[in-house]
Amino acid sequence: MANGIQANLGEVRAAIAAAAVAAGRPADAVQLVAVSKTHPAEAVAEAYAAGQRLFGENRVQELAEKAPLLPGDIAWHLIGHLQTNKVRAAVVSAAVIHSVDSERLLRRIDAVAGELGKRQAILLQANVANEATKTGADMAELPALLELALALPNVDCRGFMTMAPLAAEGAELRGLFAALRRFRDAQAARLGVALPVLSMGMSGDFREAIAEGATWVRIGTAIFGTR
Ligand SMILES: *Cc1c(COP(=O)(O)O)cnc(C)c1O
Repeated sequence: MANGIQANLGEVRAAIAAAAVAAGRPADAVQLVAVSKTHPAEAVAEAYAAGQRLFGENRVQELAEKAPLLPGDIAWHLIGHLQTNKVRAAVVSAAVIHSVDSERLLRRIDAVAGELGKRQAILLQANVANEATKTGADMAELPALLELALALPNVDCRGFMTMAPLAAEGAELRGLFAALRRFRDAQAARLGVALPVLSMGMSGDFREAIAEGATWVRIGTAIFGTR
């Protein structure tokens, strides 16, 4: 983008705070995960210099290559689909895994985290629009998956993540984000637990997500430019 990463970051932060305030929420209610996938370590370093500490990557291998080149106080968020054979590398590198969508994956993360002496923070990824082609667990499967996540000793389930369909906009888009918030509220009440995190909203739809309760937004293009 013509502006440069630091200027973009400033604009995105201001837009996030404005969207929160417009929704009657505190200006700092929403945290930014800067999605640096496909961009080099130098781009991450530029955002880091402007105070950014949460970064998102899609692929475990890219994360494992980039993380050692950058400061150790970065919290890396794995946001892309995770295969069970890559779980070890993910648990080693990721502060949070957003994309947990099956019992098999959940049990594998728990086992590896236990071996590594870590309690792995995770989110359960919800296929909120029930798209046939999308990753994420079906809404009907999520209550059981959540119960398992809460029972496993080495995972710390903080809440939910979703990606809205690319084509969704306006009232439909907000409705999808609102559905996940209501689902979270209902499950938190049913199980008597706090599930504080809703990871929803990207460059094109973060305002709608914040209006409906997002606590983490995952923004790449608006900060780093097109991929
Ligand atoms: C790439 C990606 C993002 C960021 O998308 P932008 O449109 O570039 O902001 C967010 N979430 C996930 C899961 C992604 O893969």
